[in-house]
Amino acid sequence: MNSSPAAVAPQGAGGAVGNASGTAPAAPLGSALERLRRVFGYDAFRGDQEEIIEHVIAGGDALVLMPTGGGKSLCYQVPALVRNGTGVVISPLIALMQDQVDALRAVGVRAEYLNSTQSVEESRDVERRLLAGEIDLLYLAPERLILERTRQLLDRATVSLYAIDEAHCVSQWGHDFRKDYLALSLLADRWPDIPRIALTATATRATAADIVARLKLEGARTFVSSFDRPNIQYRIVSKDEPRKQLLDLLRTQHAGDAGIVYCLSRATVDKTAKFLSDSGIPALPYHAGLDAATRSAHQSRFLREDGIVMCATIAFGMGIDKPDVRFVAHIDLPKSVEGYYQETGRAGRDGLPSTAWLAYGLQDVVQQRRMIDESEGDLAHRRRLSAHLDAMLALCETIDCRRVQLLDYFGERSTPCGNCDTCLEPVAGWDGTVAAQKVLSAVVRLHRERNQRFGAGHIIDILRGKRTPRVEQQKHDTLTVFGVGQDLAEAQWRGVVRQLLAQGLLAVNDDGYGTLVLTEASAEVLSGRRSVTLRAEAERTRRPSTNGRTSRSAGGAAVDLSPDAADLFERLRAWRAAEAREQGMPAYIVFGDATLREIATARPASLGDLSVIGGVGQKKLESYGEGVLAVVAATPPERPA
Ligand code: ADP
Ligand code: ZN
Repeated sequence: MNSSPAAVAPQGAGGAVGNASGTAPAAPLGSALERLRRVFGYDAFRGDQEEIIEHVIAGGDALVLMPTGGGKSLCYQVPALVRNGTGVVISPLIALMQDQVDALRAVGVRAEYLNSTQSVEESRDVERRLLAGEIDLLYLAPERLILERTRQLLDRATVSLYAIDEAHCVSQWGHDFRKDYLALSLLADRWPDIPRIALTATATRATAADIVARLKLEGARTFVSSFDRPNIQYRIVSKDEPRKQLLDLLRTQHAGDAGIVYCLSRATVDKTAKFLSDSGIPALPYHAGLDAATRSAHQSRFLREDGIVMCATIAFGMGIDKPDVRFVAHIDLPKSVEGYYQETGRAGRDGLPSTAWLAYGLQDVVQQRRMIDESEGDLAHRRRLSAHLDAMLALCETIDCRRVQLLDYFGERSTPCGNCDTCLEPVAGWDGTVAAQKVLSAVVRLHRERNQRFGAGHIIDILRGKRTPRVEQQKHDTLTVFGVGQDLAEAQWRGVVRQLLAQGLLAVNDDGYGTLVLTEASAEVLSGRRSVTLRAEAERTRRPSTNGRTSRSAGGAAVDLSPDAADLFERLRAWRAAEAREQGMPAYIVFGDATLREIATARPASLGDLSVIGGVGQKKLESYGEGVLAVVAATPPERPA
């Protein structure tokens, strides 16, 4: 965006209501609502936004826990526009600052950033404009704040508030710890009178407590939103041929959609990206083993082009605020429910139907248990990792609503959601006590009678009565358990073993070979004192979802549109892509899918009609209004309503 925002709003979008002394008066919320409507083009605040914004405008400190897509940005952007001075946003996401600033400029906000990617001249210019009071929002990398030079700069500027984005980065509990974030405690010491608002999508109490302590936010009000993401459909399938299962999902339910595929290792990322590309799907790899230039090129394509599938390790994703990610797929088991929820949360920020899909199998359990055993750190650390894995496994194996279990994990009670696989296709439990006893006694006999240990594959061969070379060589066909398990197919036995591991009724030995051993609880099952309920493993992998999704190219975003509206939606998307390309910006900065959907349905005939659509503020109306109206006018409905 090169056009000068000043031409549209000479005072900036803020139009400060503060007084000359720099102490912001308690502005009426009316001015916040006015900014929301005029600048951002939204009708009303969502959830806790109003209360948070009111609190910060009045000068209060806040800790905001809100899920991804919940609408955290407005919680500091609107107060920054209402209060006198510049809102300073601390964010670790240097690579995304340009896009964040572009998105704000597109709605007429005077936004800038200061980070290491700039030349000295560029940052000097930003500093000059900051001191001249010409900036509404300034994004700042945390390592900048460590410099005394920056601190002195901020001393001289009028700062309206400090927003600490991705605040969980200050916590050593979390998986995104950044050392530079520890320095942010200085905000409280150096500028005690400037309100601070810390925001994160990490929900656990331990992290929240850590944030409060490290950022000295003891006096802050904490706002905890519901962590539910009702538009995301959670599905967990048993892993068979993961890449084929994935391809099937993409072809039948997410053709043409943008999405993220998470893999555990770099090698799997590369293989999966190649497999998808070879199958005609535009897929790119992203992991820490790629050089910085490749990573940034891939990230930029993912953000700017429509329908790119990013195959990635968990190195990818934090701060990616692309709103139209239609699916997040995991082809390996995540290590914790926290991680899983953060990653899946990147789907559907625009509130439109989206999918979180996970394929997991016996090998995942064995591998992760082994990784925990081999991990560095003391016993307490390994116990913590184990507890995280157990919670993740419980989610995978539940026969109840996935969402109820997920939210429960974050301390939130709910009722069955109707939009997860177990709600849509209820799973029966079956009495697996006898099957469990068979597996356990095979393990016990091998150990007691032969002093041997084996992995799941060989145990299953014995139960199924398969005369493999190893069975013959070891004379395992003479064991009493040989062939007692012909009632179940091999895949079913793998499911049984997996679930026993998940329930702690069987364990992986720490010998590094993935051999199976009993646990204390195994004895209760063997003696019949404890029964075992297992998940009935249906042929679930090819089942299309039942929420009416189609495989049209616009994927989830076109759901429920009439044919005419869907046609117009496609044309608007094409117009948007061209517009974004011309300006070198991600398409969603022009307009989000949710806005285009509304336009396609409402068919505005005038700028007045267009201005009431969600996401169309004053600046965008001026920049794009005529363009949109021309597309609408050029696409008359087949049959006028
Ligand atoms: P978060 O930072 O919490 O992940 P964002 O701030 O990116 O979420 O907001 C997610 C999406 O919701 C964005 O597309 C944003 O424009 C939209 N949004 C936020 N608040 C509102 C609102 N009050 N009305 C309509 N849309 C909103
Ligand atoms: Zn459910």
